[in-house]
Amino acid sequence: MLSPGFPSVALWVLVLSYMVMSVASKTPIGFIGLGNMGNPMAKNLMKHGYPLIIYDVFPDACKEFQEQGEQVVSSPADVAEKADRIITMLPTSINAIEVYSGVNGILKKVKKGSLLIDSSTIDPTVSKELAKEVEKMGAVFMDAPVSGGVGAARSGNLTFMVGGIEEEFAAAQQLLGCMGSNVLYCGGVGTGQAAKICNNMLLAISMIGTAEAMNLGIRLGLDPKLLAKILNMSSGRCWSSDTYNPVPGVMDGVPSANNYQGGFGTTLMAKDLGLAQDSATNTKSPIFLGSLAHQIYRIMCAKGYSKKDFSSVFQFLREEETF
Ligand code: NAD
Repeated sequence: MLSPGFPSVALWVLVLSYMVMSVASKTPIGFIGLGNMGNPMAKNLMKHGYPLIIYDVFPDACKEFQEQGEQVVSSPADVAEKADRIITMLPTSINAIEVYSGVNGILKKVKKGSLLIDSSTIDPTVSKELAKEVEKMGAVFMDAPVSGGVGAARSGNLTFMVGGIEEEFAAAQQLLGCMGSNVLYCGGVGTGQAAKICNNMLLAISMIGTAEAMNLGIRLGLDPKLLAKILNMSSGRCWSSDTYNPVPGVMDGVPSANNYQGGFGTTLMAKDLGLAQDSATNTKSPIFLGSLAHQIYRIMCAKGYSKKDFSSVFQFLREEETF
């Protein structure tokens, strides 16, 4: 005789076996570039039950994934041989070209119908070139750079800006949704990069502006916490002032509270501003403040700030005495 609890127990067993089967049946995702951002992004794919085929030029970056049973291979081509959906998260355009078109690049072994998503921030013209090469091999390329930083990568709350063929967007969205809370279609290939470059140029300008205002206020005798509070209640408020304040002691849990360690490196910001500069030249667009921000971040790199978070522009200004 079945107990009165039987139907619900049976239902649970059915639901659980369905969940186990659906996790086990997920096809592997290739992931290349497991640095500050790629590492937590790949972990979120694992949490969603996707097995991974991974590669990074720096073998230590793969270690913890290997220990958790993920498959590490020895080149991007090998990733392409084993996975028909691949995500790349690399520092620069040069790295992306090497990973896709290099001697052991993805294109050497890519399968027809594969979906290749590049989440690195690179030059939109490079994304377009890569898309053409990928198309020749019968596969699909989409650019999907991210906004949100390492914290959002860990919590799965990144914003993805996606460029590519609209019919393929749903397939990309399914994967990117495991790593981000906003996945936005921007248009043809390269438009994701365009959106990302504009955002980061504005971010650099607002960060420098916030650092200048805070430094001036402090030298005028204001308490930095009080000044930040007033800015955040007033028309000067921005993400750099209320969420990522560059002045040590004003906020907890941000790079300025930790000697500007972690976060978004000054070198990467200088790189993104270089991309904005190139894009402005190509489109004959005036970017007075964007160009100046580029010079400031380049000088910071030359003066030893390259590995610090980009909010260290405040420290840079503190050390600059003018007369
Ligand atoms: P990172 O330098 O921490 O990681 C990049 C990884 O790529 C490293 O592990 C490196 O070894 C690997 N790599 C480099 N060349 C390679 C190659 N040829 N083959 C295989 N692996 C290679 O960089 P990150 O901070 O993770 O940033 C990645 C991208 O995301 C950049 O384009 C950056 O601008 C963008 N981004 C970063 C942040 C951030 O807060 N860090 C935020 C948004 C966007």
